[in-house]
Amino acid sequence: MTSLSDSLVNRSRSRPVLSRYKPNIGNLDQLQSKRELFFKSDTVSGGGVSASVPPSAAPPAPPSTLKDALSKRSATLPEPQETNHVEANGIATKHSNSVSVDVSKPPSTAPPPTPAPPVPISAPPAPVPTPLRSTENIMKKAEHPPVAPKPDLPKIEKPKTKELDGYVGFANLPNQVYRKAVKKGFEFTLMVVGESGLGKSTLINSLFLTEVYDKDKHPGPSLRVKKTVGVETSVVLLKENGVNLTLTIVDTPGFGDAVDNSNCWQPIIDFVESKYEEFLNAESRVARKAAPPDTRVHCCLYFIAPSGHGLKPLDVEFMQRLGDKVNIIPVIAKADTMTPEECKDFKEQIMKEIGQHKIKIYDFPESTGEEGDGADVTKSLRARVPFAVVGANTVIEQDGRRIRGRKYPWGIAEVENLEHCDFLALRNMVIRTHLQDLKDVTSSVHYENYRCRKLAGLSHDGKPHRTNSNNLCPQGLMNSFMTVWNPLAQMEEEKREHDLKMEKMESEMEQIFQTKVRDKRAKLKESEAELARRHEATRRALEAQARELDERQRALNAERAAWERDTGLSLDDLRRRSLEANSKETVDGKEKKDKKKKDWSFKSVATGISI
Ligand code: GDP
Repeated sequence: MTSLSDSLVNRSRSRPVLSRYKPNIGNLDQLQSKRELFFKSDTVSGGGVSASVPPSAAPPAPPSTLKDALSKRSATLPEPQETNHVEANGIATKHSNSVSVDVSKPPSTAPPPTPAPPVPISAPPAPVPTPLRSTENIMKKAEHPPVAPKPDLPKIEKPKTKELDGYVGFANLPNQVYRKAVKKGFEFTLMVVGESGLGKSTLINSLFLTEVYDKDKHPGPSLRVKKTVGVETSVVLLKENGVNLTLTIVDTPGFGDAVDNSNCWQPIIDFVESKYEEFLNAESRVARKAAPPDTRVHCCLYFIAPSGHGLKPLDVEFMQRLGDKVNIIPVIAKADTMTPEECKDFKEQIMKEIGQHKIKIYDFPESTGEEGDGADVTKSLRARVPFAVVGANTVIEQDGRRIRGRKYPWGIAEVENLEHCDFLALRNMVIRTHLQDLKDVTSSVHYENYRCRKLAGLSHDGKPHRTNSNNLCPQGLMNSFMTVWNPLAQMEEEKREHDLKMEKMESEMEQIFQTKVRDKRAKLKESEAELARRHEATRRALEAQARELDERQRALNAERAAWERDTGLSLDDLRRRSLEANSKETVDGKEKKDKKKKDWSFKSVATGISI
């Protein structure tokens, strides 16, 4: 399993590189003593490996040694045995079950403590000549100042291998790593570049057997064609047998679609580098995460039109410019439009031109750790580059089989048939066997190159990057190194960033506050006006009512006067008369009641009933 060595390599990556990229400049001693001062705390806490190396023990090395050093470091890690584990759906995934019995010497018998070098030097010094990965050439390009002679370091004895009497349990370590990795999930960023209509979205959907590009929610790049090249990302979470893959698809709608395509690669270069920049920033923070999110572009599928006439100038230009920044895998789109012979010739032509123009494409390593048939299959699939692919979103039923393919009157072009196209080879190589290698190469070659260029103050074309005051003079170099490797300067930088952020937030909040106050005031004014309007309306209504009442009062008075005149009576007379009548009725009623009472008492006396 490569992830174990990968994680170990990654953890120790940042600091050892410091010693290897030390600039050989005039006031080096002064710089070194300053750096030692800053790293002292690291040494005390045991965190800094390179800090404990004496200044002379860290010779600057050109970036071309980077990959060697990384591979040496990997070589020192125990080689896990890989077994293929066939999942329920028939997909072979690798589970490492290391049965190595190598143990390090116990501390008592260990050699006397020596300053720990950045790279374990127990590995044999003579490098084994291996075929150069295309990306290795890139690192040889950069020129560096002369290297100081490497002083003799005290030799560290190679720990002896001891046989164990029984099962201890650390053989289970790869399983722990496996479980942790599965729990954490995986991230992969795939970029697709090519003119619109070459079948990019169809191929992505076919690769992941799902509608990554959904016509309604997320149309393919050609349905989003722009006047200028845009870079857009879409993230999908894929789950297969409990393993989560966060897949980020980066597409570039508008690429190669303009009349004048000069510089249409620039937004893509900027995007790729911005992701490296993000990662570098996340990695070099004082308070950094153990594993910052990896949004770097791990693979770029470059779609070549099936013209049969070799590469177009735009293809050459793009691959030349991006080849040392990202893993390019060239694919011939719509391979079903060519006969097998045409396809073979076209492939040869493309590979010839790739060689002629010194284009660096991703070089699938021959060995993937598999042995026997697995290795042979890898070898045969590797020979199919550039992959001539066919994409299809439709599944056709034929002879009881469900086939993904394109149906024509003369037959079916099957997507997953190696005799029809290289789709299966591409999918196997990119997803099943080389996904981790693509990530590793991105991390240890392309990203390291970027980082190196960045630290050396070079721009992406390898020329000195001249910023305000940090020119590529020794002092400028020193400043850039000091800024990146000096924790205090970094803290200062982060504090400045933080202050800026706070200021920005404050001004934003102030703006929001002002806007809210303005809104509230406007609302208050509105409600005030509304109240005044209502008050005025009510006042008018009341006045109208009062006027009406006056009217009615006047009418009533007139009516009364007329009535008094007609009857010769006044209202007062009427009132008096009615009062008199009332009082008379009251007196009569009382007398009647008294009489009734008397009658009752007489009756009760006569009958002898007491009431
Ligand atoms: P994009 O713009 O590159 O994303 O292209 P699309 O995936 O939208 O495909 C454009 C057209 O080409 C659609 O009509 C597809 O059905 C068709 N297409 C996709 N892949 C293939 C292929 O492998 N062969 C052929 N002949 N047509 C294809």
